[in-house]
Amino acid sequence: MPVIPSTKPYRIGRSKTGLGLFATQPIKKGTKIIRYFGPLLDSKKAEDDAIENKYLFELDNRWTIDGSVRENVARYINHSCKPNAESDVKPRKKKIFIRAIKNIAPGEEINYDYGTDYFKAYLKPIGCKCDACEKKRAKKKLEARAERAKQKAKDERKAEKKAKAKAKAKDKAKDKAKDKAKDRSKDKTNPRAKTKATADGATTRGKTKVNAKVGTKSRRPVAGKRVKTKSSPAKTLVSRAKAA
Ligand SMILES: [Zn+2]
Repeated sequence: MPVIPSTKPYRIGRSKTGLGLFATQPIKKGTKIIRYFGPLLDSKKAEDDAIENKYLFELDNRWTIDGSVRENVARYINHSCKPNAESDVKPRKKKIFIRAIKNIAPGEEINYDYGTDYFKAYLKPIGCKCDACEKKRAKKKLEARAERAKQKAKDERKAEKKAKAKAKAKDKAKDKAKDKAKDRSKDKTNPRAKTKATADGATTRGKTKVNAKVGTKSRRPVAGKRVKTKSSPAKTLVSRAKAA
């Protein structure tokens, strides 16, 4: 590792993705932090054009800086999608500086956006590990988990509702069976009830009751209105007389 003079406001240290450059002193927004340097490559020269590594930094269409040399401490600076520094490219001077775009506190890692081309070629295939992307991923994960929990609770509520409805239907069926049994025993002990029901032409006790009521309250069907009962008032009267 290259030796860095203690007057410099940074040091090389362990980062999440290997090594990185960290502030050792407060760095004010707008200040030049470090120069990104290395041999100049001329794309018009075949041997220069053939060089390929991750530290190539294009100045313009013709010139590229090969920052892979050991002395180029700026090559330790990692990429971030939400950086605290930027690359300040001076094509005419054939120089690149890394400049702070935020106030950087001691201990903070320094980073800049490597640009779309680098991102597409090297970071996208493996997934960007910068803080901003990690945070985004963590948030997405959390949201997905919350969504799953929500869906689960919804499913459980639905299943519970279904089970309740089923139990209710079962109870209702039971009650109905009980009622029927009761009716049968009543019919046996009370022959009059049976006579009344048959006289009305109705099959259930409930219907007989309704018929009798309609029969007494409104003897004649009101014109234009449907009367629910099938038996005529006269018939009901007869049945009532019989029952009495
Ligand atoms: Zn990122």
